[in-house]
Amino acid sequence: MLPIPSNGYSVFFDTDLKELKNLLQSSNYTKIFFLTDTNTSEHCLPVIQKYIPELDTYDIIEVDPGEENKNIDYCIGVWQNLLDFGADRNSLMINLGGGVITDMGGFAASTFKRGIDFIQIPTTLLSQVDASVGGKTGIDLGSVKNIVGTFAQPKAVFISAEFLKTLDKRQLVSGFAEVVKHGFIADKDYLAQLKEISPESITPELVYHSIEIKNHVVTTDPFEKGLRKTLNFGHTIGHAIESYSLQHDKNSLLHGEAIAAGMICEAFLSHKYNTLSENGLNELITIIRPIFPDYSFSKDTYPEILEFMKNDKKNTSGNIGFALLKELGNCDYNNYLTEDKIIESLDFYNELIA
Ligand code: NAD
Repeated sequence: MLPIPSNGYSVFFDTDLKELKNLLQSSNYTKIFFLTDTNTSEHCLPVIQKYIPELDTYDIIEVDPGEENKNIDYCIGVWQNLLDFGADRNSLMINLGGGVITDMGGFAASTFKRGIDFIQIPTTLLSQVDASVGGKTGIDLGSVKNIVGTFAQPKAVFISAEFLKTLDKRQLVSGFAEVVKHGFIADKDYLAQLKEISPESITPELVYHSIEIKNHVVTTDPFEKGLRKTLNFGHTIGHAIESYSLQHDKNSLLHGEAIAAGMICEAFLSHKYNTLSENGLNELITIIRPIFPDYSFSKDTYPEILEFMKNDKKNTSGNIGFALLKELGNCDYNNYLTEDKIIESLDFYNELIA
């Protein structure tokens, strides 16, 4: 599969990591660091080692896994490790992990000594199809997600299906939410293909096409002035539900699970306040519900969920903005809706799953 050119770098489809090996051999970085979490140290470093035996000469910085650790404290730990291991401005950081590692690692690298080079090796489906392109890095502040961060482009991104082999099913399903989102917002034919498969049977070709869709959007609009906002379909409400769940549930929702619920709410809004037909709404629900878990939340939780939406960094002047579908495969943005309409969509979701 041909590399996909993005904003000044390429996304390589690199099953045997030959491209990564070439890049590392031809570069003259003073030091190379890998950032991992304990799971990617266990499952993904051996894959790297298999193809790149020089791994032994690189320093590994390992953090605990999970969204709850995508925060400033862990980031300070990463900066401190870079400092202790003698990183200079000509060092390279390779982020090997899911979106938590690629986001936090990208942020740490783009700010350390005012920015060192970094490479992204996303190892979850979600991070491959979503976090891998677009140059957004960041960390959470308390339960407000991705509120501190930078736009910073990696030197390269390497995608290998081999990493997905050790991913558990729940994580694979979570990533699939972003895959179907790409179909909902931009490509009805792709959606038709996705309807025929389960998350476990996703192929490298489908991953490739998802990245193509996202990459087209982010290269057209790198700083989210327009088209890029369509990627937020399902995310205004989904992020708020995710933040709520992170704060209250012992076994909190994964990103994609929350986005799946958010997409149903926002498809309802697309039907009521944009041009998505009732058939379109029902089709979306029929695609989502068999794959993703329902999440029930009572009316008492609405104020808190709405509060999270108000903190969303995509809002302007206190207005809550939405990307809404015009039809399946076509989305627009800058739809500003009042709280009572958002509440209608939460009610719709709760009645649906009751
Ligand atoms: P994650 O990074 O927490 O990874 C999920 C879990 O899988 C973790 O426990 C991790 O240790 C484990 N894991 C990773 N790769 C593995 C592998 N190959 N085998 C076995 N276990 C593995 O979560 P995620 O879903 O990848 O990413 C979610 C994050 O991505 C969120 O913080 C979200 O905000 C961010 N994100 C960023 C962008 C962006 O544009 N920058 C886009 C979408 C999502």
